[in-house]
Amino acid sequence: MHTGKILSVNLTNLSWNILPLEKCIYDKFIGGRGLSGHLLGTYLENNPLIFCNGPLTGSGYQTSARCAVMHINPKTGGLFRSDFGGRFASALKNEGYDGLMITGRAESCISLVIDNGVRFADVPRGYATVSPGADRNIKYCKIISDGFFTSHRGGTGTMMHRMNLTAIGIRPSGAPQAPDTSAYEDIERLINAAPSLTGRLGIGKFGTAALYDLTRARDILPNTFFNLPQPAANTNACALGETQSVSCGGCTIACRKMKNGLRVPEYDEFAMLLCMGVPFERIIETYNHCMKQGIDIITACHCIAQSGMDPEEFLYDIPEEFYNGSDRFAVKGVELPAIAPNGALGVALGYVTSPNGADWTTAMALTHEILRKPVPTDRQSAEGKAVINIAYENAKAASDSLPVCRYALFAVSLEEYAKTLNTTAAKLAECGSDIFMNEINIIRRLGFGIETDRLPQGALTPEQQTGFDAELKKYHRMRGLA
Ligand code: SF4
Repeated sequence: MHTGKILSVNLTNLSWNILPLEKCIYDKFIGGRGLSGHLLGTYLENNPLIFCNGPLTGSGYQTSARCAVMHINPKTGGLFRSDFGGRFASALKNEGYDGLMITGRAESCISLVIDNGVRFADVPRGYATVSPGADRNIKYCKIISDGFFTSHRGGTGTMMHRMNLTAIGIRPSGAPQAPDTSAYEDIERLINAAPSLTGRLGIGKFGTAALYDLTRARDILPNTFFNLPQPAANTNACALGETQSVSCGGCTIACRKMKNGLRVPEYDEFAMLLCMGVPFERIIETYNHCMKQGIDIITACHCIAQSGMDPEEFLYDIPEEFYNGSDRFAVKGVELPAIAPNGALGVALGYVTSPNGADWTTAMALTHEILRKPVPTDRQSAEGKAVINIAYENAKAASDSLPVCRYALFAVSLEEYAKTLNTTAAKLAECGSDIFMNEINIIRRLGFGIETDRLPQGALTPEQQTGFDAELKKYHRMRGLA
């Protein structure tokens, strides 16, 4: 399950070495996100870029072909963790490493090739690759894995550009076989029985943009905080018509969609571009232009709102004054994604408590407030959300460390994942808590105190703000932060 080794590469002097890790580190941090956080906390002064696989990588478990990535966000100076699909995580494991930590800066642009050792070469071909987006100047540039899958946000591509790192290539491994365990069947069954994943209107059918109809119907699209009209009713994922499915390494949900050889936008980007006024018939083309440039569309849309420019004019030629992004509707310098905080108070609480900054995927409150699973909660009220969010933050931190995809949490719980590691759900949740709190300790060291846990001015009504502040206080007490 673990190799016990981290490959550490210094680009300044083009050297590399192997860091052995004790079993107690894995017992506490599992792998993936947890291990990345352990390494970032240990080597913070070296400003590393860290990629980690986990104990389920290469195992054939559903949604386990994800790679965790963590670093200091070049835009905000805070921590950012993300993950991406493709062959990279299993290729790294196959080469004998649980993680790859890169520090320093090469004198000129180089690629790193890991293939029975390390070499520095031209752009690797035929390998599992990670490359930065094309724009070197923008501070919110993503990475692209295997030419298709991207990291979420946080400027990972900008980090690679700053390091003069053109690409990382690893000799790909063969396709994993499905494990022969009862946990595998159980997880498979839950995924196939979940309407939000594999149902008629689920993300397996329409991609994650399937969530758009749910947020639109509740009037919690980003047009509310941009003070813009809601997009027309007939503009949804279904209206994009027939698409082809792409999956991260064998996942049968296959929520990544293609149309005519172009990628179909995911939820946040779909909602953001539509709310900014990109014509529906041009949304796929505009999205693909941004993906090729590696631009974080959420941040770019906030800049468009601030600039007042035509969205396409902006995205095809980003003005220099917006290379740093926008801070107007942000938490810890990270702009709000495509769920309005005033219509989902648990999501809003998750925005302010996430070590990433505004990010709905840390506390996953969308699961109970919008998808109504496992039980519906009152999205208009903050009351009781501290305890629920903490449980989800811990579960998400643990599952990110196996790692498995965030969307699997719509159907599968730590009870099933515990069986994959022969442990208990309680133990996994305890690890999740340690992993989360380690990230909080890192952001404190980076200068983000408890006072930075706040929403942008005017995000909530005064009545909402009072209840929200009381629940946030409760959250801080429960986490031992106040
Ligand atoms: S659900 Fe989607 S993002 Fe998650 S592993 Fe499957 S294909 Fe990848």
